[in-house]
Amino acid sequence: KSAKIAKIRTPIVCVLGHVDHGKTSLLDRIRGSSVVSSEAGAITQHIGATLVPIEAIRAMSTSMQKIPVTVPGLLFIDTPGHHAFTTLRARGGALADMAIVVVDINEGFQPQTIEALQILRGCKTPFVVALTKIDRVHGWRVVENAPFLTTFAQQNERIQEFMETRHYEIVGKLSDLGFNCERFDRVQDFARNIAIVPISAHTGEGIADLLMVMIGLAQRYMEQSLAMSVDGPGCGTVLEVKEERGLGPTLDVILYDGTLSVGDEIMLASEDGVITTKVRSLLKPRPMKEILTEERFERVKSVVAASGVKVAAPNLDRVIAGSPLRGVRGDREAVATQIRQEMEEIHVKLVEDGLVIKADTIGALEALCQELENKEIGVMRAAVGPVSRHDLITAETIKNPLYKVVLAFNTPLLPDAADIVKETKQMKVFSGRVIYQLIDAYLLWRDQQKR
Ligand code: GDP
Ligand code: MG
Repeated sequence: KSAKIAKIRTPIVCVLGHVDHGKTSLLDRIRGSSVVSSEAGAITQHIGATLVPIEAIRAMSTSMQKIPVTVPGLLFIDTPGHHAFTTLRARGGALADMAIVVVDINEGFQPQTIEALQILRGCKTPFVVALTKIDRVHGWRVVENAPFLTTFAQQNERIQEFMETRHYEIVGKLSDLGFNCERFDRVQDFARNIAIVPISAHTGEGIADLLMVMIGLAQRYMEQSLAMSVDGPGCGTVLEVKEERGLGPTLDVILYDGTLSVGDEIMLASEDGVITTKVRSLLKPRPMKEILTEERFERVKSVVAASGVKVAAPNLDRVIAGSPLRGVRGDREAVATQIRQEMEEIHVKLVEDGLVIKADTIGALEALCQELENKEIGVMRAAVGPVSRHDLITAETIKNPLYKVVLAFNTPLLPDAADIVKETKQMKVFSGRVIYQLIDAYLLWRDQQKR
């Protein structure tokens, strides 16, 4: 075997939580914290992601400076309020190696918080809870950028008590969902307990603690799965298919393994099956200071995992978001088979007596399947993409009238399908953006039918 193996790659981190609880603000804060860093430790913007190197994290946290660390940093996926990013996959598992669940301390758990936790449980992804907006607690005395314990010691007794009460409410809620949690400074064993880190994205309080806990998690429990061969063929996941002026359709890709170079032959899943094409260019965002130059992107010859990159190549227009991207070296047929399996492999039994489900990504489809299975609702057909005429015709053939429906998660109805629904008034399509609310809507309808 090659001697170049056994480099630890950058863990990929996903931020989830209820809308408006502060996901974007947290990432903005982490990005904005690069002021102190040297050239080597500069935080860089990737396509669809932000790379925080270990040097930048060390510069933020004094207690980090003594700890030996092999993880090169953290790659945060920027989740633009879009749930499906959290269910993106890599080799049949979750693309994200770790996650941060953001919870507004003043609002507590909300529907999307619960959904995020269900998904993380399903994927067995290690995570940390960021209890955010602590600066909004009435009477809070801000200690800009301080570690949590420093700022906590500055607060009066009433606030400290409020914080403890809130904390135990959250611990209780998490325990109901089957998770064992504690405030990060009280966690003895990170393998058993999930850490809760109180933070503020506005004042920077607790941010260094959060990053340190994430590094600790990666370091202790993930070294094995993060080992990679740097010179292997590129493996990635497509976040989005985007039209760019002057470039045509391009792919925003998170590369999680190996190296991808201009000229590499790659394979992807498209609406017409597996396609083969050749990388024409690899693009990264320009650093902020160069924003005035004419081109939005900087061209690079190759990228190493983990990173976010834009790929331009011929024939990308029908590529499916969420598709695997594989560099091909050697056996094409083997790679094509792998891609097909990854796109079709939903870990759920399809049954004859069940309904039709559609979702925007394979990960979302699987999460929906799992929750339906928990409720003993069978699935007859499950596929990625918008609801088509064909889906309705399939649903029409279902014998049990209570299953003659389509559940559409995060995916629209095509116009011809919408026409059928309007004309026949028989076909029922449920659409939604939160899994359990979608299921609840269906169950409510089903109960009404039974009466
Ligand atoms: P997202 O929907 O989860 O991405 O939430 P945003 O990051 O867009 O935040 C929603 C709102 O909460 C915005 O008005 C933010 O300014 C505010 N916000 C987020 N984090 C904090 C925080 O730590 N402190 C305070 N006071 N406000 C915050
Ligand atoms: Mg947001």
